Amino acid sequence: MVKDKTIFEKIIDREVPAEILMETDDAIVLRDINPQAPIHVLVIPKRKIEHISSINSGDAKVAANLLLTATTFAKKNGIASYRLVINNGSLAGETVHHLHIHLLSGREMGWPPG
Ligand code: 5GP
Repeated sequence: MVKDKTIFEKIIDREVPAEILMETDDAIVLRDINPQAPIHVLVIPKRKIEHISSINSGDAKVAANLLLTATTFAKKNGIASYRLVINNGSLAGETVHHLHIHLLSGREMGWPPG
């Protein structure tokens, strides 16, 4: 049985519109629809990996590229201070089961995160 696509797969396949700010061979960066900071973007691998906890050694390149995409996006946009977040599991706030990094910036961040 074919599994339903996640919202991010639909965005990657251009079936659902989104504000895509950067795209590489492996990933897209898009504006979060419900921003939690003045700058809130999501860095998403095109190849679906469900959670950060699902990655294995075969995914090392994808994982490294994802971080590189996030830092490249920040550099290109003059964003010097930012927080990268990956939620894993419902208690941690994960709602979309397609790996993504949140990049948040533009306000002071509290610690520890809530
Ligand atoms: P999670 O809670 O899984 O860590 O993050 C999922 C994120 O995806 C949330 O911040 C949510 O606002 C964002 N999101 C969910 N649906 C859409 C959508 O259709 N478009 C965009 N741009 N962001 C979405």
